Amino acid sequence: MLYSSAGILALIIHLIINYDVMRKTPESEIIPLRHKYRRYLYSVLAYYITDILWGLLYERHLITLTFIDTALYFYTMSASIFMWTRYVSAYLRRDNLFGRALKISGWLFLAFEIIVTTLNFFIPVLFSFDEAGVYHAEQMRYVTLTLQIIMFVLTAVYTLSVTIVSKGPMRKRHRAIGIISLAMVGFIAAQVRFPFLPMYAIGCMLACCLLHTFVLENEKEEYRGMLEQKIREGVLKGNYYDLLTGLQGMANFFKTSTIKRKALREKGHYPTFLFFDLNGMKFYNERNTFKEGDKLLQVFAGILTEEFGAENCSRLGSDKFVVYCEDEKPDDRLLKVFADWKNRNIKEAPSIRVGIYPDKKGDIPIGTACDRANIARMAIQDSFVSRFNYFDEKMQVDAEARRYIITHLDQALEEKWIKIYFQPIIRATNDRVCDEEALARWDDPERGLLSPAQFIPILEDANLIWKLDLYMVERILEKIQKQKEAGLYLVPQSINLSRADFDSCDMVEEIRKLVDQTDIPRSLLSIEITESAIGSDFEFIKEQVDRFRELGFPVWLDDFGNGYSSLDVLQSMTVDLIKFDMRFMQQFNTGDKNKIILTELVRLADGLGIDTVCEGVERKEQVDFLREIGCDKLQGYYYAKPMPLEDILKRYETGTQIGFENPDETAYYNAIDKINLYDLTSVAKEEEDNLGNYFNSLPMAIVEVRGNIARITRSNQAYRDFMQRTFGISLTGLRTSFGDSEKGTGTTLVKMLRECCEEEGGRKVFDEQTPDGSSIHSFMRRIAYNELTDTTAAVIAVLTISN
Ligand code: C2E
Ligand code: CA
Ligand code: CA
Repeated sequence: MLYSSAGILALIIHLIINYDVMRKTPESEIIPLRHKYRRYLYSVLAYYITDILWGLLYERHLITLTFIDTALYFYTMSASIFMWTRYVSAYLRRDNLFGRALKISGWLFLAFEIIVTTLNFFIPVLFSFDEAGVYHAEQMRYVTLTLQIIMFVLTAVYTLSVTIVSKGPMRKRHRAIGIISLAMVGFIAAQVRFPFLPMYAIGCMLACCLLHTFVLENEKEEYRGMLEQKIREGVLKGNYYDLLTGLQGMANFFKTSTIKRKALREKGHYPTFLFFDLNGMKFYNERNTFKEGDKLLQVFAGILTEEFGAENCSRLGSDKFVVYCEDEKPDDRLLKVFADWKNRNIKEAPSIRVGIYPDKKGDIPIGTACDRANIARMAIQDSFVSRFNYFDEKMQVDAEARRYIITHLDQALEEKWIKIYFQPIIRATNDRVCDEEALARWDDPERGLLSPAQFIPILEDANLIWKLDLYMVERILEKIQKQKEAGLYLVPQSINLSRADFDSCDMVEEIRKLVDQTDIPRSLLSIEITESAIGSDFEFIKEQVDRFRELGFPVWLDDFGNGYSSLDVLQSMTVDLIKFDMRFMQQFNTGDKNKIILTELVRLADGLGIDTVCEGVERKEQVDFLREIGCDKLQGYYYAKPMPLEDILKRYETGTQIGFENPDETAYYNAIDKINLYDLTSVAKEEEDNLGNYFNSLPMAIVEVRGNIARITRSNQAYRDFMQRTFGISLTGLRTSFGDSEKGTGTTLVKMLRECCEEEGGRKVFDEQTPDGSSIHSFMRRIAYNELTDTTAAVIAVLTISN
């Protein structure tokens, strides 16, 4: 029992002292060569067990079991010495002859021991038991003991020789290893002298204690010192702990996750990096004060800590957090975080967006891994509910493009890679250009022509769009000057503004300054704001719109009908024009509903005194329809694509221009535009077949009279049908001139028209006979007079036809 109790004691001490290294606690992971050391510890552990068993079995005279255990004892003991040589030679980190000799002799020793021990199962060369069950050491036992002594002497001499050159704490450690090896020599010699005393076990126990105290603890201490130093530096830089949430700073986070990632990879797994962002924090702060916002961040940090552990979380700043997670698919844990966040019942709590980067290869710096998680998060940027998203390769490509745009913006502006294109907007009644919209193009020397879709959202997201938009204003002002010099009529130019413009600077004031530096009237610059930009922050945007209008800049509501709150917006915000979203034209032929909505919207805008433009007009039938329903202006490829100023000027040179509207006629055309050729009250009468009858209204037309000539400028389908049926006249084109004589068909009409046009506010109700003898009862009203061309416009409606 004496024999075993020494072994048991050694085992217990061994386990206590080396617990952290064998369990791979995070602290032990800082020890250099911990894998080799760990292997040594495990082999010593196995050796202790066989040694303890030996004492117990031998006392009980269980010969066969004792025999087997003795063999195992020899295997494990030689393994531990082999591991020791491996550890020492690696520790000394010297690739010299001595080092190589130690390594090779370690291998030879192990091979020899295995062969001899295995041989002993057949021939008693190492040890034997006699009939009485007494243990006898054989010849080879002394050889192996000698070899063991040689191995330890070798390591001792080698390490002690290295102490001559090594320095500082390293030297102390080398010396400790050398002395430990020497002590082992002593214990092995004692074992030879007293084979029934557990000398070797006691030696190992002592060696482990010495090693732990003078080598490992020393190493840890050095590391801690270094860490403390870093922390001190960190505290000075303010990045060790986040003062608000108590989470560790980035530098620390990078360090601990590097260590943990390595350990995890050795187990054959990989971690994920999570990037958290609270969407709407800014809004929350504005509503509830920053103090409340800080509290909210603390609550959120608490939730993260609870789920992932404080040592795995860090705050990047503002409302951004990163987490190191040892789950390859952390979906469930994230759902838990979302649920927890929701359960706190915080009013107007921001939503959580998480980007996940599965770090499968582990070959990139932690910062890059977090970056990629952030890229995955940005892909769900617009989500208003809590969501997570995994990183994929395409995002990497997008992120690269994004980086390119952001880093090259200044150069692009400076070197005028950003070109300004203009798309004409045509007045429906006179087919002349009454406005132009400025659209940006990025003509990159490396990447070719980039469309706004490729850079506007990026610049908006990076809060850099203001630079581009102010640049656009400058270019527009330049263009107006040039156009003036070329002797062309000037029409208002519209510029697109983004929501983000207003976050970066006082856009209203900046634009005012730019325009007022020139002699260009403010009314020549219209501001387009998309309906979606108004979004969550209605009051703020409304204020900006009002300021623009008070200064004399017309404001247009872009992409109208695309959002969910179109009508609300119109009710509470005053704008000069609404631009119907392209989707109305794209869905033009998908049934009547779309057309009815557009018709009603035009009527609504008329009622509110707001002008209308429809964008995305590509076909003749769309132009006809929009004219009929009284849409004031048209924009789209049917007329022209956006083009640079040079192209516009070229068109004037070659005579292929659409032609600008004379500003002096603008008021006249505005008045004609306001007439809607649909009598929408007719709908109410038809309960059934509602859609089919929607457009069957009174025959109506707008006529312009100049001297002897009357022209139908606009008409509705009912009027065209009526003319065809009654007079056999086809008004296929909407602009057919029909009355240049005083004789024949339409004589009364022309006469009435002339009389009506002569007096301001003129109205006529009259009857006319048709060739087939029926009587037409009509109404007529003068709308406007164009001084410049001496032209009068009137609207005609056919009220009844009787036989
Ligand atoms: P948006 O303001 O709705 O501009 C209209 C877009 O529709 C333009 O695309 C124009 O080229 C295109 N378009 C015009 N007519 C037709 C047509 O008949 N059919 C079709 N399919 N498309 C037509 P673009 O130039 O690519 O601009 C896209 C968006 O980028 C613009 O939409 C605007 O929101 C934004 N944007 C463009 N330039 C600027 C700028 O300088 N600043 C800001 N903040 N945003 C800009
Ligand atoms: Ca626009
Ligand atoms: Ca638009």
